[in-house]
Amino acid sequence: MSTTQRTRLQSAFKSALAAELAQAPLDRDSALRAAATACRSVLAERWAKTQAQDAKRGAKAKTRRVHYLSMEFLMGRALHNALAALGLTDTLAEALAPLGLQLADVLEREPDAALGNGGLGRLAACFLDSFAELGLPSFGYGLRYQFGMFAQGITEGRQVERPDDWLRLGTPWEQPRPECRYTVRFGGRVVVEGGQRRWVGGEEVVAQAFDFIVPAHHSERVSTLRQWQASSVKPIDFEAFCRGDYEGANRHRVAAEALNWVLYPDDSTDAGRELRLKQEAFLVSASLQDLIARHLREFGSLQGLGRANAIHLNDTHPALAPAELMRLLLDEHGLSWDEAWAITRQAVSYTNHTLMPEALETWPLRMFEALLPRHLEIIYEINQRFLDGVKAQLPGDTALLRRVSLIDEGPEHGGGERRVRMAALAVVASHRVNGVAQLHSDLCVQTIFADYARLFPQRFHNVTNGVTPRRWLMQANPGFSALLDETLGEGWRTDLGELAKLKKKAGQAKLQKAFLAVKQANKDKLAARIRQELGLVVNPTSLFDVQIKRIHEYKRQLLNILHVIARYQAIVANPQADWVPRTVVIAGKAASAYHMAKLIIQLAHDVARVVNSDPRVGDKLKLAFLPNYGVSLAETIIPAADLSEQISTAGTEASGTGNMKFALNGACTIGTWDGANIEMAQHMGVDEMFVFGLRTEAVEKIKALGYDPRLYVEENRQLKAVIDALGDGSFANGDTQRYRAIVDKLLQVDNYLLMADFADYVATQGRVDEAFRDRAAWAERALKNVAGMGWFSSDRTIAEYVERVWSVDSLA
Ligand SMILES: *Cc1c(COP(=O)(O)O)cnc(C)c1O
Repeated sequence: MSTTQRTRLQSAFKSALAAELAQAPLDRDSALRAAATACRSVLAERWAKTQAQDAKRGAKAKTRRVHYLSMEFLMGRALHNALAALGLTDTLAEALAPLGLQLADVLEREPDAALGNGGLGRLAACFLDSFAELGLPSFGYGLRYQFGMFAQGITEGRQVERPDDWLRLGTPWEQPRPECRYTVRFGGRVVVEGGQRRWVGGEEVVAQAFDFIVPAHHSERVSTLRQWQASSVKPIDFEAFCRGDYEGANRHRVAAEALNWVLYPDDSTDAGRELRLKQEAFLVSASLQDLIARHLREFGSLQGLGRANAIHLNDTHPALAPAELMRLLLDEHGLSWDEAWAITRQAVSYTNHTLMPEALETWPLRMFEALLPRHLEIIYEINQRFLDGVKAQLPGDTALLRRVSLIDEGPEHGGGERRVRMAALAVVASHRVNGVAQLHSDLCVQTIFADYARLFPQRFHNVTNGVTPRRWLMQANPGFSALLDETLGEGWRTDLGELAKLKKKAGQAKLQKAFLAVKQANKDKLAARIRQELGLVVNPTSLFDVQIKRIHEYKRQLLNILHVIARYQAIVANPQADWVPRTVVIAGKAASAYHMAKLIIQLAHDVARVVNSDPRVGDKLKLAFLPNYGVSLAETIIPAADLSEQISTAGTEASGTGNMKFALNGACTIGTWDGANIEMAQHMGVDEMFVFGLRTEAVEKIKALGYDPRLYVEENRQLKAVIDALGDGSFANGDTQRYRAIVDKLLQVDNYLLMADFADYVATQGRVDEAFRDRAAWAERALKNVAGMGWFSSDRTIAEYVERVWSVDSLA
């Protein structure tokens, strides 16, 4: 940016700020609103320019416009990022100072936009950031939920869920687009008019767009998150009103607004509720109508739609898209089946996020038909043509036909309900399907999609996830970023691959010292936060051992807690030994209906209570559970971590992105050979990571041979003592029943092989202690970790999607 441009921007911002501040009594909230509104007006200009550039691309453009459909976008706060992108951080700080306000305090007032559950939604948010940075013509499409991810409170050690009323202070970031409205139908029936099938009747709702603008940091490009808000076509039934039937008069409005009411709080489980299916259909229909309208404005005809546009499905939640696109092209625009199908196949691509069968979406056929009768017809037709093709390719294999059909016919001998398989629809209708880390993509092809991979070997590929270094390094860790500038120059800010230059410098004593000083400052801040939130004093120089993520059995927070118990017992047995002081930090939300995950949260609190108050332990061990995990909390915790816990059972974590954020901020990783941990180890050198545990093949083998967790407990006295303490009420004020369910599950089934991995985990934690004693060697290791993380920028991820999925060339 030129100096005059910057001055102009600064003065525009200052006058917008002044105008806003004049409207309300001054406090941090009004200052926040004023700053956001001022930023938004600058962003709105950039948005208009970006759209104008993209509209001029013409039919020859190599990059298609990407439409990223996702039911979740876990954006977090926006102001800090916007200020950094616009170069206005100092301007705002200077404007606030005479008002007696600190920038940091104002930033802290912004509620997180938590419109997602976890990794999948955060990935979508990182992608929007990279779309802007790479200048990719794109739209992210989502729903404007009134209530996002619930806020987690802790009462007597137990999770309580509170509604996340994130819109309560107004929405300074949104750009309403009143001109951008479409009608979406539910229910009704299909009629034939002049040989043409049409969907009529039922209930109609209006979708209206609200845009959230995401700026690039190194250009004036922006990307857009377009979120749909539903309202009733008929906001009031006036006849009912006049009869005095107020509830009846309001019925349509209530039904429409339910669509935006709340984000489904389940993570990795299939909720299977009708309202959820309606939300998905609503997102898909509004987004595709918007795409078609834009394409017609720019190109005048639908023929090249698939060549000019990519429609990407973030998991199966928007997998109705191919059926809806077919419906719009066939019924509303009069294309033939073959034309419409060719366009759909070109446009659609799909990313799978989980191998867990219970998380694969299916819908009861009867519910689906009642809500989306025309889509079901189209899915039947897609299925018929697909199965005909399979029969021709592999004649006589009826079991195969049953397995790959888009319709699950239920158990072989009847009894079950027929269901629509969304993953099958996504695979059959896509030209590319990918997993999110190499191991996960390999397992997709070997397990859940094995049949499809045999039929369409060219369709499957891998794109390993990444995270945006703007938020997760530059914004979250300014101290370390400044050190990187000093050490490497500023090139890493636009090309994260330049971090590789750290490798040769990692041995320099001066750099190691400076790194440790930055880390210590971050740890001091986290220690202060722990004290403030929990009243717990921790030793800020102790090893900060951190596991923050959704609470899920496969992620094995329980294994972490078992290690804490083992360490506690060992300290109590031998308090005089030379222990490496350790502070274990855990944070994460449990889905509201996930009993076992909630019990694990309660156990963490019970163990923390006992350990933290035992005078024999002192600062040798502390356990802190920080409530209400979210993007903003992650931004404060991650820069302070020494050790990152990435300990899922091998073969269960699709990729993980938390693992990447930690390593990028100079934490060492203790991890299993799972998800993207594997590629991280390969990029930084396998010996630089603390790898432990059974690998995927060994997990499968042990399970196939008949796994008996009790054998591990019987032959390991340390493990036995831990399990006994869980069962005898040591951590539950003598209540022997509280953790019965956990003990029974560990001893009887232990699906995630905690017992099998325990010994190696504890031994590896011992290696971590020894490594941490040598501060210089630890710093060298951490710096080498950072040097390997350049590849894990979401800019690289998006560049790969463009090359392999979203470019015109990828269609060849
Ligand atoms: C990165 C992130 C996640 C994903 O973490 P994993 O450790 O990969 O499961 C979830 N929630 C938030 C708020 C995040 O920032």
